[in-house]
Amino acid sequence: MSVTVRVPAKVNVQLGVGGLRGDGFHDLANVFFAVALGDEVTATPAAPGTGTTLTCTGPDAGQVPLDDSNLAARAARLLAAHHGIEPDVHLHIAKDIPVAGGMAGGSADGAAALVACDALWALGTPQETLLALAAELGSDVPFALLGGVALGRGRGEILEALPVTGTFHWVFAVADGGLSTPAVFHECDRLREEAGTGSTDTDVPTPDADPALLAALADGDPAALAAALTNDLQSAALSLRPALAATLAAGTEAGAIGALVSGSGPTCAFLAKDAEAAEAVAAALTASGTCRTARATHGPVPGAAVRTG
Ligand code: ATP
Repeated sequence: MSVTVRVPAKVNVQLGVGGLRGDGFHDLANVFFAVALGDEVTATPAAPGTGTTLTCTGPDAGQVPLDDSNLAARAARLLAAHHGIEPDVHLHIAKDIPVAGGMAGGSADGAAALVACDALWALGTPQETLLALAAELGSDVPFALLGGVALGRGRGEILEALPVTGTFHWVFAVADGGLSTPAVFHECDRLREEAGTGSTDTDVPTPDADPALLAALADGDPAALAAALTNDLQSAALSLRPALAATLAAGTEAGAIGALVSGSGPTCAFLAKDAEAAEAVAAALTASGTCRTARATHGPVPGAAVRTG
């Protein structure tokens, strides 16, 4: 019997980036927001000695590595090793999250594989242990387990669930081709050096969550959230991909109340006042020719969970 897990993509409604630390990472104040656009990972039993095998379908499937570097396969092997069992499983990824789009698609698949294999192998791993294994896989993986809205500190892996009221309506403009997350962080450091502010953790103050943004989420106030959206990586993403400025402008002209680059980009995220406005913004963005496609969705939604029915 197979197990299918649905897992959300994320948008960072705040991405505060501190200076470069000695260990090569940056301190972040990262407000993650899980949206209904997501992937599905199905775990199917495999014969003993087969190991972990992978297949992937979806519009971006050609860009997903099917070797040992895939985060879903790494997650299956990590969970099996933790329990001292063999990682014999076939994983199928039904991919809807844009690849290398700044929406943490690979991390989502890692989280989904943890939950799917845990259920398939009837391991009953406590959530706390799954979160620790997720943090080993990558900074964005724990949030994909948790879902909802959460503040991530450190590299993003120390999570605190945040209160939120109601549903917010989003549009995502998917670009042609991805942006490398390390390259965008590097460009952020370079721009800070160029501006003369310095780029290390002694030059740049440690970022913190914006109280106005937290209040907007708790109050379920889209206009206040739109006004508080910030991404410290946005200028770096725009520097590497100047065409994104036209995408952001097209969404705003089409009636979005807020616009920002999602994470390290190049996907752009737009907040709309309601579901109808989101559909209109998505249609206008698709017609504008400034992106490959645009998708209306909503959130917050729960994290990786076994699909029932
Ligand atoms: P983030 O927002 O976490 O920085 P991203 O959304 O920009 O990530 P991903 O879609 O997670 O980017 O992919 C980044 C790279 O990770 C891909 O180019 C690919 O080589 C690798 N990767 C590993 N596993 C997966 C997976 N399951 N799905 C997609 N990419 C994966």
